[in-house]
Amino acid sequence: MRSFLALGIASLVLGARPAQGATPNAQLETTPAQLVVALVEDPDFPPLDEKLVQRALKYAESQFGERFGVAPPSFEVQYRYSVSRFLDTYAIPSDPKCKNLYAARYRGGGAAELLPHKAKAIAFLERWPLDALLGFVAENERPGIKTHADIYELYVKRYVATVEAMKGLKTPAGTALVEPGTSAERSFVAWMCALQRQQDFDVILTNGFILADLSSEPHPHAVFGKAKIGGIAASSPARRALGGQALLATTFGIDTKLPEFDELGGKPATFEERAKILGAYLLAHEIAHALYGIPDVFDHPPGCLMTSRPGATYRDGLSELEANKAPCPKCRPYVEARSLQDRGRQALEAKQYSTAVRQLTEAMKMIPKQFHGGRKRRMSELTLLAAQAMEAQGKLPQAKRYAQLAVELDPFSPEAKEFLDNLSPRPKPPLTTLVSRTASTATASVTR
Ligand SMILES: [Zn+2]
Ligand SMILES: [Zn+2]
Repeated sequence: MRSFLALGIASLVLGARPAQGATPNAQLETTPAQLVVALVEDPDFPPLDEKLVQRALKYAESQFGERFGVAPPSFEVQYRYSVSRFLDTYAIPSDPKCKNLYAARYRGGGAAELLPHKAKAIAFLERWPLDALLGFVAENERPGIKTHADIYELYVKRYVATVEAMKGLKTPAGTALVEPGTSAERSFVAWMCALQRQQDFDVILTNGFILADLSSEPHPHAVFGKAKIGGIAASSPARRALGGQALLATTFGIDTKLPEFDELGGKPATFEERAKILGAYLLAHEIAHALYGIPDVFDHPPGCLMTSRPGATYRDGLSELEANKAPCPKCRPYVEARSLQDRGRQALEAKQYSTAVRQLTEAMKMIPKQFHGGRKRRMSELTLLAAQAMEAQGKLPQAKRYAQLAVELDPFSPEAKEFLDNLSPRPKPPLTTLVSRTASTATASVTR
């Protein structure tokens, strides 16, 4: 069944903007994302209410615009699936794109099952400074934490116990909440695989439980928290609106009556609160991961949309946002880098080639080191755009150097490869080579 709800907003045209950097909160010129939404329902949980969905999308639009000082994105709901049909269609464990994911799926077998993924897990945790992770550690345990390997040991202990404690929990329909030993249903890994393979939407809203079960990427606030996923921004190469990523947010944490997963401090949420948590706290946060590359942060000031505080419930997070309305200054460089990229692309399209090269080069310098979704991939996009501007100016040797760099930075970018091939025509490789060139990029994802 399909359902069409037009939720678009009209603010696609931007007026004159103050010069960038003039004041820290000045509006930045960016290209607003137009996002296709799918609703995916798990019949064992309360159904997704379309009124709530519409309201949440409105909050996502307005919050995103306000928090980052940019033109908001727009949404259009185009698809509706049952979760079983959705996962049967898209989550295919044997697909080469998904094999690594399923190989690292935690099946509830205890610490020994996590061991083969230890090196990757520690490397993943090293994305955050040790200080930023200490918030997840109880005061009395802190003296024992000197390295990321110590954090890893603590994660194993806590996470295994949290998943063990889920045994026996039921959905509102009376079925088991999660059975990792026998089923990949309600698995983060399965959803990641589905996002990786699908080609039709940018945002998924669902109502079910999702277990944080990717052992190679233990997201700190999930594995030290309730081992559940509230939102995902993950690789989805066929979708361009969010630069090869797609998002998911679930209403489970908002609507569940299980005390183990209480996100509301024991008090049920009003319609408006539910819509704000789904739209502003979860969805707008995931969009910023995908669009600006801002990772989950634990050391930005209060009111930062990208912060998930240790131990904080959704209601805590929402109150903190509402009490601190100003855009986060530490997120600002990410948004400025994106604005330079968007303006560089516009200049290229307007045939203002030297302006384009200048803005794109500035964007490359500004992209922060810790970058969600692959810094190299974003650098490749920028380098390719600069190469195109150089080619248009007739600077062919420079254009070629930049195009080669774009391919080196992201060997799986079809655009970069095609551009380079066209600059230096070679005999076409046989079709089989092209077909077997499947992308097995890093799965790096982020979660709320
Ligand atoms: Zn921030
Ligand atoms: Zn996040």
